[in-house]
Order: sequence, then C-alpha cells, then structure tokens
Amino acid sequence: MQGFINDFNIKKQAEELEVSVWQTPGFLFSIMGLIIMAAMALVYFVSSHYNSPEILVVSETAIVVIMLTIGGSLIKNIETFAETNKMKSEFISIASHQLKTPLSEIKWETELFLSKHKESAEKEIFDSIERVAESNSKMIKLVNNLLNITRVSQKEFTLQKEQLNIVEIINKAIRENKILAKTKNVTINLTDTTKNNSVVIGDSRGVKAVVDNLLSNAIKFTRAGNIKVSVGNAESKSTICIKDSGVGIPKNEQGRVFQKFFRGSNESRFKTEGTGLGLYLAKSIIEQCDGKMWFKSKEGEGSTFCFSLPSHESTN
Ligand code: ADP
Repeated sequence: MQGFINDFNIKKQAEELEVSVWQTPGFLFSIMGLIIMAAMALVYFVSSHYNSPEILVVSETAIVVIMLTIGGSLIKNIETFAETNKMKSEFISIASHQLKTPLSEIKWETELFLSKHKESAEKEIFDSIERVAESNSKMIKLVNNLLNITRVSQKEFTLQKEQLNIVEIINKAIRENKILAKTKNVTINLTDTTKNNSVVIGDSRGVKAVVDNLLSNAIKFTRAGNIKVSVGNAESKSTICIKDSGVGIPKNEQGRVFQKFFRGSNESRFKTEGTGLGLYLAKSIIEQCDGKMWFKSKEGEGSTFCFSLPSHESTN
C-alpha cells in the first residue's frame, strides 16, 4: 500500500529520479488514466449522438493515436532511466575494478614493511605506515562494497553453498583487522570454540565479507574497549555474534539499519567514513545462504550483531 501511495507522490518521484514532474512515470501514468476515461466518455457520447460508423471509427482512431503517443513517451522515459542506471552501475564496476589492483599492492607493501621492520624502523615511520595501512584497508572495504552492490543489482552475485569452517574465517578476519583494532585501542576476543561444531554451509567469500564487515564496524564504532566474538550451535544451525562496547545505534533509527545507505545520526557518522552499504549487503548475503541476521543495540552502551547459518556435522 505504501509503495502504491509513493507511486503517486509525483513531486517526490521527480526529486528522486532528478527529472521534471511531467517526465515522471507517475505523472505520465495519471495522464494516461485521465485520457482513457475521457476517451471512453467521448466514444460513448459519439456513439449515442451520431448514428454514423465513420465518425465512430475516426474518433476511436484519434484516441488510439493519442494513447500510443503517450505510451511511447512513457516507454522512452523508462528506457532512458534503465539505460542511465545501467551505465552508472557499469561505471562504478569499472572504476572499482581499476582501483582494486593499486589498493592491493599498497596493502601487500605496507604489510610487508610492518612485519619486516617491526623492530628496526623508527617509531614515527612505523606509526605513519601503520596509518597508511589502516586508511588503505578502509578504502579496500569501500571498493569491495561498491563492487558487490553493483553485482547484487545486476544479479551477478551467485553464491555457492559449500562447507566452511566458520572459526577459521573468524580468525582470519580478526588477523586482518588487527591493525585497525590496535590504532583504535580495541581488543578482540573469540570465545572458546573447541567444543563447537565449526562447519557451516554458505559461500566462503560472502561469509568472509560478512564477518569482516561486522568486525570492522564493531572496531570503527568503539572508541576503546573490547569486542567479543562468539560461536554457538543449536538445532542444526550455528550462530555467530559480534558484541562491542561502542557508541550503539539510536533507538529511533534501529528499524533502518539494514537499509541501503543507512548511516546512523550519532557521532559515528561524523567520525568515521563509510557508505552505509555494508550491512545491507551482509544481510542479503546471509539470507541468500539460507541464514538470518539481526542485532541488538543501546546508544552509548554498544551493539551486538548476530547471524545464523545452517550447520553441518563436522567430520573431525
Ligand atoms: P558503513 O559502516 O560503511 O557506514 P554499514 O552498512 O556497515 O555502512 O553500517 C551502516 C551504519 O550502521 C553505520 O554508519 C553506523 O551508523 C551503524 N552501525 C553499524 N555497525 C555498528 C556498530 N557496531 N555500532 C554502532 N553503529 C553501527
């Protein structure tokens, strides 16, 4: 119902599509409706007043021509929107692909430097390279999100359902986010998983991207503190939770957290950069792997983001 009402909110539609009011599908659709009603009245009037089949045929032909003209313009507008949208997605995809190679090179080089010169480099130089690595990893996340969002909108995202070791994925994500956590003075603990079945079913790249996103968010939105990652099993599924002691999400905004481009209005928005695409993508990846994602949050106290995936009996 809301969508139906929005279709007729022509001014809003014009603003969203960045076109004039008369070019919006809603406006053209309403005009078409009015013309159809007028045409029906006209045909009724002509057929009841003139007993001439020629006049009836001419008036019907005129109406068909008008309707085809409006329909043609409507289709042309829709084609233009679709084409622009496609070009925009292709541009984002090409630009993101081009950015990936230099960003990966910076990542390898900075990581190599940091591991090789941990003891020997001057503190100032070491700290500054660490900051370069941190900014670079934020840029990699942004580019990956842009690439994934175009893949999702172009329906290119085909996720595999394979057996994965979720604990290995979490440990890898923790290792990769270590620099970011260190610069934010945040510690990360994974609860004891030795008794857990750590095999889940999902797409390895997708699930890794989800864990990465939740973990880097937990770090980004925590000033200094602790992040707890837990894995639990129940009824043929595994639940993974990432709990932080950060800024939290205002209550009145919590309903929009998984929407595209959502960014909280609290201090996080002004202090950290981001696109608001990560959680939208994370939820769609988990749902495509037959899982669920949810969260709990209290402003000023912290947030817990969880997801569950079907689990698989471990063979070892
Ligand atoms: P991004 O981090 O790129 O802005 P996300 O989709 O990952 O995009 O997150 C959207 C918004 O949700 C963030 O901008 C932030 O306001 C809020 N958010 C996400 N995770 C947390 C968290 N752990 N603590 C507080 N706020 C969060």
